[in-house]
Amino acid sequence: MTARILVVDDISANVKLMEARLMAEYFDVQTATTGQEALDILERSSCDIVLLDVMMPGMDGFETCRRIKANPKTTHIPVIMVTALDQAADRVRGLESGADDFLTKPVSDMALITRVKSLVRLKMLTDELHLRATQGHAGGEERITLADLTKGAPGRVLIVDDRRSSFERISQTLVAENAVDIETVPQEALFKAAEGNYDLILVNISLGQYDALRLCSQLRSLERTRTLPILLVAEPEDNARLLRGIELGVNDYLVRPIDKQELMARVRTQVRRKRYTDKLRDNVQLTMEMALMDSLTGLHNRRYLDSHLATLVDQSIARDRELAVLVVDIDFFKSVNDTYGHDVGDDVLREFARRIRRNVRGIDIACRMGGEEFVIVMPETDREMACLVAERLRQRVAGEPFVASNGTTTLSVTISIGIASLSAPDDTPDSMLKRADLALYQAKREGRNRVVADAA
Ligand code: GH3
Ligand code: MG
Ligand code: MG
Repeated sequence: MTARILVVDDISANVKLMEARLMAEYFDVQTATTGQEALDILERSSCDIVLLDVMMPGMDGFETCRRIKANPKTTHIPVIMVTALDQAADRVRGLESGADDFLTKPVSDMALITRVKSLVRLKMLTDELHLRATQGHAGGEERITLADLTKGAPGRVLIVDDRRSSFERISQTLVAENAVDIETVPQEALFKAAEGNYDLILVNISLGQYDALRLCSQLRSLERTRTLPILLVAEPEDNARLLRGIELGVNDYLVRPIDKQELMARVRTQVRRKRYTDKLRDNVQLTMEMALMDSLTGLHNRRYLDSHLATLVDQSIARDRELAVLVVDIDFFKSVNDTYGHDVGDDVLREFARRIRRNVRGIDIACRMGGEEFVIVMPETDREMACLVAERLRQRVAGEPFVASNGTTTLSVTISIGIASLSAPDDTPDSMLKRADLALYQAKREGRNRVVADAA
């Protein structure tokens, strides 16, 4: 995993030291010694993580962070604040100014590398989701920012801990901002996590008889919990196991004795991230649905038909039900374009789609296959009924002129329709579409503006 990291600190010895440690892990490092210099670098080049010192003359780390987060171009870049050990209030201020994480000086190698890696992983995931969510959209897409999610409903947290004194203290702190459940039986935790719709699972790394890391690895491999953030709570001597946990995909950790503000802050950050990635995932879902729709007419597209017709054919055969397929083609559509222009042609396609929608049932599937060719699939419909529906559609097109170009153009349009109905147990989507196509050619040959069904 490599990434570009910007280190910002007014003391150049600190910058050099940090640079050396990060470069030893093969990160690509850039440096700045003032807040303004950092903002300039971010403005002109891409960067994956910012490591930001709090105490700097002039613009301090808080203000620099606020500006990074206020700029739409840089708001998605994770910021790690580096604070002095004895300044607990600074951590809270840092997170309030939009920082995604913080490290306390002196920064241990383990803390530095794990927190940087965890944020890089998150950044890559959100970049990827963002890319997929915006592909196919006509520009101008807003990035969702972590800050949008701060005012959400309380976080839903599951604590997995079998030591009463430990989970009581943690849950007392967390209930101020979260809905907290406690699971004291580690074997039950996986099921509970999968069922519970949680934003975060907090796991005590030393569970009596049970290996907490096994639980973490199971959470990471189960579909339902793969993206559920995991926060480990460890003793100072648990370093080696903590590292294993991070390798398994644990998102963050706390070392006892637990600092209440740090606990609150880390939970808040993980909850926000979970919501952020959920939201991006919903966007990707929407984009995938869009990929099954024809953008000109709003009908389904060929890809949608391909994935659904096979199922409908199989089901109809298995249940001994009727199924009809109509292939519909606009007559002499090329001359509509040639005479009135492509925009009028598009208007005709849209109006035709509207007339289709008004003449079919909710369970029928109407698709634009491309150009001026459409397919309508009608479950539980025999040949006779399909002919009636097709004939009605033909009349609704031929009988009422099309109005295009905002009412400035009126033209008459006709369509031809070929029908295939399910006839044999070995019928397939291809064989039905082929028969409907042959019927359509016959309708065209016989003079257009007519309906022809395949042979009974
Ligand atoms: P026929 O009666 O035999 O179907 O003749 P036709 O002119 O309708 O058929 P042909 O397949 O020769 O021409 C279809 C035309 O549809 C050609 C193409 O320019 C036009 N077309 C395809 N897609 C679109 C589109 O999205 N918008 C517009 N306006 N025209 C399109
Ligand atoms: Mg045509
Ligand atoms: Mg055609």
